[in-house]
Amino acid sequence: MSDIATNQRAPDWMKGSATKLETELTAKYGKLEQPRIQRGLLQMSEYWRAQDGDAAAYEEFVRTNFAGDPETLDAMFNRYERLLEQLSGHMHEINREFRQQADLDLGPMLPFDGIFAAYDPAAHVLDDFFANKGAFVVLLNFPLTTLEERLTQGPKWTRRQWAEVRLAQDFSKRIPADVNLAIAQAASDTAEYIAQYNIWMHHLLDQNGERPFPPKLRLLSHWNLRDEIKADYADTQNGLRKQRMIQQVMEHIVRQTIPQVVVNNPNVDWNPRTNEVKPAAEKDSDSPVPAGLPVSNAPEPNTRYAMLLEAFAAEKKADPYSPTAPTFIARRFDEDREIPEKRVEAMFEQVLASPLVPKVAKLIQSRLGRPLEPFDIWYDGFRPRGAYTEAQLDAIVAKKYPTAEAYQKDIPNLLVKLGFTPEKAQFLANNIIVDPARGSGHAMGAEMRSEKAHLRTRVEKSGMNYKGYNIAIHEMGHNVEQTFSLNEIDYTLLKGVPNNAFTEALAFVFQGRDLELLGLAAPDVRSDALKTLNDFWGTYEISGVGLVDMGVWHWMYDHPKATPAQLQAATVEIAQNIWNRYYAPVFGKKDVVLLGIYSHMIDSFLYLPDYSMGHMIAYQIEEQMKKAGNTGPEFERMARMGEVTPDLWMENATGKPVGPEPLLAATEKALAFVSSQP
Ligand SMILES: [Zn+2]
Repeated sequence: MSDIATNQRAPDWMKGSATKLETELTAKYGKLEQPRIQRGLLQMSEYWRAQDGDAAAYEEFVRTNFAGDPETLDAMFNRYERLLEQLSGHMHEINREFRQQADLDLGPMLPFDGIFAAYDPAAHVLDDFFANKGAFVVLLNFPLTTLEERLTQGPKWTRRQWAEVRLAQDFSKRIPADVNLAIAQAASDTAEYIAQYNIWMHHLLDQNGERPFPPKLRLLSHWNLRDEIKADYADTQNGLRKQRMIQQVMEHIVRQTIPQVVVNNPNVDWNPRTNEVKPAAEKDSDSPVPAGLPVSNAPEPNTRYAMLLEAFAAEKKADPYSPTAPTFIARRFDEDREIPEKRVEAMFEQVLASPLVPKVAKLIQSRLGRPLEPFDIWYDGFRPRGAYTEAQLDAIVAKKYPTAEAYQKDIPNLLVKLGFTPEKAQFLANNIIVDPARGSGHAMGAEMRSEKAHLRTRVEKSGMNYKGYNIAIHEMGHNVEQTFSLNEIDYTLLKGVPNNAFTEALAFVFQGRDLELLGLAAPDVRSDALKTLNDFWGTYEISGVGLVDMGVWHWMYDHPKATPAQLQAATVEIAQNIWNRYYAPVFGKKDVVLLGIYSHMIDSFLYLPDYSMGHMIAYQIEEQMKKAGNTGPEFERMARMGEVTPDLWMENATGKPVGPEPLLAATEKALAFVSSQP
């Protein structure tokens, strides 16, 4: 392999060849084609490397493959669209077959099943297409765009122009294998670090030497710790002191003052208030002390931040190979999300600084009967109590759906109840295959129109239970979206939705109607209002977390040579600043670092902003569904838009770009309703 520094630049002869070809092709195809010729040559020069061929080979390639007249261009576009659908469709089909034993309830897995499940047949497709020059045909003839262009010009483009833009985007990166390998390595190192980060709760001691948590309780940071805080609201005896203790643990993790020896180790007792560590006075597991670690409170040596720096260094390596989005931050916002970072930030601030925040905070305070404490960002008391017990619902569902086939047979009926015509419901049902899942359930869409979407659902021996049914309805929402946005779309290059938040929001539309579909009473105004307040408080919390994630990545780009200790200090400062601006006035306490605790920050690389976007988008779609009144046709109209920018999709769906207004409006109404109730 040649060295990267020379590998990422066009060869010296490129400029001369391009000038010559521009004159030649303009003379051949006419002045009108000149802008397209210039664009194609420029795009070629950004990706063509010495190993692709010398000047003569390059010139010959351009002469042969530039589509200079509309007929050739149409033929090229149509054939590429059809063949790429076949390629991704069959790759996906292989992947689905190879994962069958892992995904479905088909009996025990043998060791080799894991090899098939982990195999990705599409892993080298992009490399192959640069090697065989299929990628260069696209780069020579179709436009690469920046997010700025897609946002400002996109609304005026025809559907065909949008499809051409997506076609070119498929080939907009040429990342060398060693860079991809470094990114995969960082992902796997950070995932492993996070997956092992357990706290043994029975070994946490308070100032009286008491153990508030039961034996054997092992909580993974941060998910289980946060969920324990949520669950502790129901424990009127010991809840508060447990919550305070978990907050201390989280602060030690963010600040890296946590004694190294307490991580994932049940053989030591730890007082998180004094940070004192002793050999465990009570044994509740057989795990040995990790080799070489003396029992002391020597802190974890900033490993959390060393991990994050490894992720940063790996992602940064891809920068030179991604001309239209030359930083990882740009790739996340301009490509994955397609909403500029500045706008995302502004939407978060709109929620964080909303006058509704202190009002909802006051309501929480009165429900708790005490002043708020920082961990109350995870307040969980807005959960509505349903009219039916879980056991009642289990019995109803098990009787209705004893097997996966029974659910499959009922799909047309369920879809008619959701407002689809009988013909449309049948068409959708014909495109959905129900499989018994090994895990909790998931939806797997097809990648080509001759394939079907798969609904994976869990069915116990005694029949489907309510939890499984609720998930199945959600996954069916995904399958319906997947079917409309592939089988009914005008260009398969536009199949899908702008990003994950959109398909989730559409799936929630179905899931929210699960009781009605069983013929039971729908959630009432009060439980709707409580759910809205719960979502609002969750969005307030996670918007601050998202801003910390964004702030930390900017800091790393500004300080590419930082040490783990410097990154630790910077993260604490960023988390405190955001807390002090948006939370301290509400909670009455400054310099809290809890916003830095999320594990996604370490192992999911700038993923956290997606959560708040997801809440906002869900409320926009839900509001439109209520306004339209007819879920079926409205769902279909939205889903057929395909993968354009989020704002354009939302404009088409609701008349407005992506934004938090419907969430805020619903919160205001919910607050008024709940406050008026005794
Ligand atoms: Zn989902």
